[in-house]
Amino acid sequence: MQKKAVTVIGGGPAGLMAAEVLAAGGVQVDVYDAMPSVGRKFLLAGKGGMNLTHSEPYDAFLSRYGARRPQIAPLLDQFSPEALRAWVHALGIDTFIGSSGRVFPTDMKAAPLLRAWLHRLRQAGVRFHMRHRWLGWDEAGTLCFETPQGPASVSADAVVLALGGGSWARLGSDARWVPLLAQRDIPIAPLLPSNCGFETGWSEYFRERFGGHHLKSVAIMLDPADGDKPALRKQGEFVITADGVEGSLIYALSAGLRDRIAADGKATIQLDLLPDWPLQRVIDEVARPRGARSWSSHLQSRLGLKGVKTGLLRELVPAADFVDPLRLAHAIKALPLTLLAPRPIDEAISSAGGVAFEALDPQLMLTALPGVFCTGEMLDWEAPTGGYLLNACMASGRAAGSGVLSWLR
Ligand SMILES: Cc1cc2nc3c(=O)[nH]c(=O)nc-3n(C[C@H](O)[C@H](O)[C@H](O)COP(=O)(O)OP(=O)(O)OC[C@H]3O[C@@H](n4cnc5c(N)ncnc54)[C@H](O)[C@@H]3O)c2cc1C
Repeated sequence: MQKKAVTVIGGGPAGLMAAEVLAAGGVQVDVYDAMPSVGRKFLLAGKGGMNLTHSEPYDAFLSRYGARRPQIAPLLDQFSPEALRAWVHALGIDTFIGSSGRVFPTDMKAAPLLRAWLHRLRQAGVRFHMRHRWLGWDEAGTLCFETPQGPASVSADAVVLALGGGSWARLGSDARWVPLLAQRDIPIAPLLPSNCGFETGWSEYFRERFGGHHLKSVAIMLDPADGDKPALRKQGEFVITADGVEGSLIYALSAGLRDRIAADGKATIQLDLLPDWPLQRVIDEVARPRGARSWSSHLQSRLGLKGVKTGLLRELVPAADFVDPLRLAHAIKALPLTLLAPRPIDEAISSAGGVAFEALDPQLMLTALPGVFCTGEMLDWEAPTGGYLLNACMASGRAAGSGVLSWLR
């Protein structure tokens, strides 16, 4: 009997995971990708130290998916952080848990993992077709591709769409699938930047002097949108850019900040430049006689504040407050910084929005298009960086692969 044929479009971690499950299920799998090679964003994720998943308790882990927890949790139940680590180990790659609880491959890189994975997929019979851009369906329901050799048509018993989100278009995830599915009346939440930087409107002087500087050991406070909840406070580090701020601490808060800017036109965070110092101690030190010293050297000698932290105070604290020790101490512990807009989606680590879960059955098949499954970042969920993205992309890829197998049966 001829094997069933399944087409996977998109060779990121979600599509490759679907291909793996499908090949193991005994179907012929063909992976198509618009780019000259698969896994480009996955490889980029490995450049700065790849977080595969996170080791925190499972309930806390699930909470990172926010409003989409009910949809993502069943997928992760089938491919938990522990299962992901075991899967990586089976590819011959060791992992370790960093001090933040994040899980990394031992060499921090994605390339050896991807190489081993692709080798295993090819051995399992998965075929790869690069430079094949999916353009939608023709009237007969055949899949249409643009290739360097001209148009190509592909028929399959089922299709997995794993086309990625809308950031870093040059790596392949250019979101050109959105109109193709919208034409088929598939509900799609608008793609928005997630894990992104923000614009602030720095002065020319500050931008030139401090652009690219890292702020280490700071905390950000964000007043709750709804007055009943306590203010959010997170400690970590971020970077001053020419246009604003970016980096892990900013990304961790980016979904809420983005939504607040959309609602109010701006969002104000407060920076604690000395998160390990109690306010009273800062007040006492600032108030000590400064003699003939400048304010900058006073702050440096009494509090160890210097460089970009003092630069931020100069940029954001009104001159009158700078000479009032009490006000200056309060500014050091809660310096208001107004964010004006998220940076463009193409610069973001990931995107929010995508195919609505309401359009999918629990196996991730589009109910309006039987036999067509969607997976990965193109679905309408978001999560912070820290391994949550890859774990959920891979878990959803596995779910789509299993879903196809059950549907074919
Ligand atoms: C700088 C950076 C660092 C990151 N670091 C981490 C990290 O450490 N940990 C973490 O969990 N996540 C990280 N991420 C996020 C993570 O890489 C993504 O969430 C993940 O790759 C998404 O997987 P995916 O398979 O859904 O989509 P993608 O990996 O984007 O793959 C989609 C594929 O579909 C192809 N495609 C798109 N449209 C078409 C079409 N029309 N026809 C054919 N092919 C098409 C693309 O070429 C691409 O290969 C990082 C992202 C970036 C940008």
